[in-house]
Amino acid sequence: MFDKNYKIDDLMGFDEKYVLPTYARTKIRFSYGQNAKLYTPCSREFIDFGSGIGVCSVGHGNEKLADSIAQQARDLLHLSNLYLIEPQALLAKKLIELCGYDMRVFFSNSGAEANECAIKIARKFGEKDGKMDRYKIVTLESSFHGRTISTLKATGQDKMHVHFAPFPDGFLRAKDIDDIYNVVDSKTCAVLIELIQGEGGISPMDKQKVQELAKFLKEKNILLMVDEVQSGIYRTGEIFASKVYGITPDVISTAKGLGGGVPIGATLCGLKNIFEPGDHGSTFGGNFLSSRAGLCVLEILENEYNSGALAKIIDLFHHYLDGMVSDFPLLFEKKVGIGLMCGLVAKNANIQKNVISTAFEEGLLILKSGKNVVRFLPPLTISEKEVCEGFTRLKNACQKL
Ligand code: PLP
Repeated sequence: MFDKNYKIDDLMGFDEKYVLPTYARTKIRFSYGQNAKLYTPCSREFIDFGSGIGVCSVGHGNEKLADSIAQQARDLLHLSNLYLIEPQALLAKKLIELCGYDMRVFFSNSGAEANECAIKIARKFGEKDGKMDRYKIVTLESSFHGRTISTLKATGQDKMHVHFAPFPDGFLRAKDIDDIYNVVDSKTCAVLIELIQGEGGISPMDKQKVQELAKFLKEKNILLMVDEVQSGIYRTGEIFASKVYGITPDVISTAKGLGGGVPIGATLCGLKNIFEPGDHGSTFGGNFLSSRAGLCVLEILENEYNSGALAKIIDLFHHYLDGMVSDFPLLFEKKVGIGLMCGLVAKNANIQKNVISTAFEEGLLILKSGKNVVRFLPPLTISEKEVCEGFTRLKNACQKL
């Protein structure tokens, strides 16, 4: 039973006893939120610069989103993909119109599933006369593509592999973007990259190198697949980071920010007829609830973008980040990232850890990325006041270190 009278220790006890221990949970209980603010049951306030790892793109407790979801829940939550799903068709149309790519969309429920679909597209693309011909997919070291078996295989971060080696064939690892040229072979059907590695240290790829790679892959008839699970849906200031880089990928996977907290994944694909009915599917993917949420999120964010509010808040956020680097040269080396997918490179892993935990004590949620980056993924609707308050708390935390 959902009983708000449980004590936090009781709930932590239930969590420990009944939930498989895959997460290192912090002992905190939030009961509601308002845009970039979160509150505990005893009204302790936090500023949220993490937005559920880039998910709550339109903030917490967003009334428009809540109304859309509630309305949809009263009308229809779910029907099979065997029938027309009105908000799904409208969401696909909206996504394609916003990005301007000549693509079609497959909907799923998460980032890993969006990448699974991308991997399936690549394998299908590599078939010749109905048989496997080219099947290898190149990914990068320090990449992160998910935790299902095949997306784990695609993931380059070593720590993710510890418990799961050895993996089946099919993925090739390149050290960095320059190394992709050495790794690609005659059996390669696709390259899968993040333009800004989210878990691997918020490191944006070099724009010119990305454009050269796109050209090279086109010439070689190898698919360029971009994982925009974290960077997509206006996180960088544009609907997709691919727009910032001026490229047209063959496949884009996205998820996190699209549902504003309702699980949804989407794979956009320029090979519009790669699949036939039966080739792929999902019970829940793109159902009434999640696609209605996605539509509402896109409408809100499109307004933020068109009004210039998003660009303005990005500028302000980066102004404060620059200030942190100049005010705390002993803690931070530099600022990294694009738009509201950004970070501060700490001098070492210890500082990264201490900044995050001291900020928490000051009432600010921030994240880590890679070995030494303090990561910021605030809601895209964050207000100037919330940004200012968040950085005041971050400064207070840093002064204590
Ligand atoms: N790809 C990237 C770039 C991600 O950042 C993530 C999640 O953090 C994933 C894939 C996996 O997404 P999910 O956890 O929704 O399966």
